[in-house]
Amino acid sequence: MMSLPLKTFTRFENFGHSLRASSYRIQVKRTEDIHAAFQLAKQLGLKITARGTGISYNDASLNGGGIVLDMSGLNQILEWDPASGLVRCESGVTLEQLWKHVEPHGWWPPVVSGTMKTTLGGCLSANIHGKNNFQVGPIGEHVQEFTAVTPTGALVTCTPNKNADLFYSMISGLGMLGVFTSVTLKMKRIHSGLISVDARPVPNLSRHLGDLLENAPHYDYIVGWLETFAGGSSLGCGQIHAARNLKEGEDSHAQQTLQLSYQHLPDRLFGLMPKSLLHYFMSPFVNNLGWRAVNLAKYMSAQRKHTFRQSHAEFHFLLDYVPDWERSAGRGGLIQYQSFLPKETAEGAWRRMIELSHERGLPSYLGVTKRHRPDKFLLTHAVDGFSLAMDFKVTDRRRAKLSQMLQEFDQIVLDAGGRFYFAKNSETSAESTRSFLGDETLSKFRQFKKRCDPHNLLESDLYRRVFR
Ligand SMILES: Cc1cc2nc3c(=O)[nH]c(=O)nc-3n(C[C@H](O)[C@H](O)[C@H](O)COP(=O)(O)OP(=O)(O)OC[C@H]3O[C@@H](n4cnc5c(N)ncnc54)[C@H](O)[C@@H]3O)c2cc1C
Repeated sequence: MMSLPLKTFTRFENFGHSLRASSYRIQVKRTEDIHAAFQLAKQLGLKITARGTGISYNDASLNGGGIVLDMSGLNQILEWDPASGLVRCESGVTLEQLWKHVEPHGWWPPVVSGTMKTTLGGCLSANIHGKNNFQVGPIGEHVQEFTAVTPTGALVTCTPNKNADLFYSMISGLGMLGVFTSVTLKMKRIHSGLISVDARPVPNLSRHLGDLLENAPHYDYIVGWLETFAGGSSLGCGQIHAARNLKEGEDSHAQQTLQLSYQHLPDRLFGLMPKSLLHYFMSPFVNNLGWRAVNLAKYMSAQRKHTFRQSHAEFHFLLDYVPDWERSAGRGGLIQYQSFLPKETAEGAWRRMIELSHERGLPSYLGVTKRHRPDKFLLTHAVDGFSLAMDFKVTDRRRAKLSQMLQEFDQIVLDAGGRFYFAKNSETSAESTRSFLGDETLSKFRQFKKRCDPHNLLESDLYRRVFR
């Protein structure tokens, strides 16, 4: 009988350090390691979860008592063609590796998350969206081909035309149908290392969402920073940052701005605070009063419309400015709640959710809005509407109250015809999942699961929470 060495038993956490689970870690260096892990799991009666960087906000890459396949070592960029913009990578390659490889040649990844630390395997499993979701859809729409190992031992190659049913279900499939080994992606052409950003204040939720809706078609990217503490007639106020790529010739120093040296994130935030120290300074602010002040200051600082240029890295990866910023939430960590609502119902639903958070004394500390459009991946989270992501601090005292409130949020979202994102929410139940995905989608997913993973070897804490 084979066994796993006890020294590989490791405690894993989610990004916000609010959830923990211990598992046996198997480091993957070659595709054969994945085959071997499946055989081992079957013999030992253990469940397997692939893990990229492990920075999902929730339990997507946690697997208490089972095996975690650490994919971060499968991280080679295998082929890159600067003429066509096609790149083939192993699935543990991070967005940081990718953009740094292609940007000096005048290309940028078509879709990126708010952090560059995510791996391509993690990005495909969640089918991530960027600030350009309304224009270009999720990352899956830019995948030309992927290879994956299923627990049956098959190495499958999928494109939008070959094994198309698996293509559209494994991308978005939360790593529950197979383990990605390589990904071929088409990059987006850029003519400058800079991006032009229009920043403007919005006084309330109606104007906030109206701005996203009306102005998105005129830009490549759009995002809203929502002031989560404001109530009454100012509820939902904030700032819109709408950005467009520069056209050929608009940047007379394009050769320089495309260099990596131009793309670094500044060492100091707002030109003052050394970023390595910032999370210590943020800690005292992680209470309602402190964050109210921070939100207000942020809103007041952008009371006039202005346009500026910033590097792609600065625009896309703002949250990477402050290393370990999530630790400022303290010992209990933080969780994020992101809901996706149709454009017709979003305002009413979010008004109610923000009011509820004020009434309960559990305000969110950060609110981010985006504009979306639907896509045809099986477990899609997108709608023709908007998303609002809200970060909440967790403490032992608040945990139960917070959990109760987020379940009430789920009901508001369901009543408004909305959807949830499996890379973020940590409270959504199996009942809510059934309501938003619908029986037909769930039954299709179960059929794929049976075909790719007949012995149910691939399971994560998230899977057990939302599909059981
Ligand atoms: C600061 C921050 C900002 C973010 N911004 C955005 C954003 O703007 N848009 C967005 O859509 N998301 C965003 N996210 C969420 C993030 O993009 C996803 O959670 C992503 O999946 C994390 O990648 P990872 O490599 O850490 O994956 P992990 O957290 O390790 O895993 C995520 C899922 O992918 C599966 N998986 C990982 N590798 C593989 C593989 N090789 N094969 C099969 N399955 C695999 C895991 O089993 C798990 O289900 C953000 C997260 C953070 C922390």
